[in-house]
Amino acid sequence: MLTVSNLTKRFGGFTAVDHVSFSLEQGEILGLIGPNGSGKSTTFNLIAGTLAPTEGSISFLGQEIGGQRPMDVCHLGIGRTFQIPRPFKRLSILENVAVAAYYGQNGRVSRQQAWAQAEEALGLVNLPTDAKASVDGLGAAGLKKLELARALATQPKLLLADESLGGLDEQEMDQAADMLSMIRREKNITIIWVEHIMGVLMRVVDRVMVLDHGEKISEGLPREVASDPRVVEVYLGS
Ligand code: ADP
Ligand code: MG
Repeated sequence: MLTVSNLTKRFGGFTAVDHVSFSLEQGEILGLIGPNGSGKSTTFNLIAGTLAPTEGSISFLGQEIGGQRPMDVCHLGIGRTFQIPRPFKRLSILENVAVAAYYGQNGRVSRQQAWAQAEEALGLVNLPTDAKASVDGLGAAGLKKLELARALATQPKLLLADESLGGLDEQEMDQAADMLSMIRREKNITIIWVEHIMGVLMRVVDRVMVLDHGEKISEGLPREVASDPRVVEVYLGS
């Protein structure tokens, strides 16, 4: 589904993502982990079109998407969440998601369809679908769910989920992990899930890839990666 080759991003003289290559099969959940500042969000921004690669290529369903505009990448079927949720505060929960459904599909759906897709996405993440429910009352876990619903409402084939566990307690983390697992199973959506900690992610993903200082240092099954000496060193040393 996705083939990333030699992906590199430099900001001036600083290399945030350094010749990273990986591929992703349809239906997989790939965990992408690494310490803070290791290049995880930058990798997402490169795939989603928020940033253009300095070098390398990104092929999605056979089409080169490196350097394309975010909205075009979204229309091709890549949905992404942001590490820091920034909902429209004056819109209701439902309106926030409906806006994503409508504009994320570039007017290929009617307004009525967009509302229906918004309700469906909110149902998947267990948020209220009534028209008046406000964003104001949402805590950290609620905002993460809203972020997920906004991405799902664009009807993605590939979902990029960035730090879905940030600010959550233990029980909420478990629920978030189960939710991503359910989304893959029920909606047949392929997922790349970024976290800086291993934690519950390791229970749910098929494969894990580890970044450190922008470089891929390990990749494999969760239990292989968790015992890889290079990974242990990075996590104990950080
Ligand atoms: P992660 O998500 O793994 O915590 P990021 O991808 O956000 O890390 O950042 C990787 C590195 O690139 C960090 O050192 C960060 O400061 C730097 N970086 C990210 N975005 C920019 C930018 N727009 N300009 C300059 N440096 C950036
Ligand atoms: Mg990040």
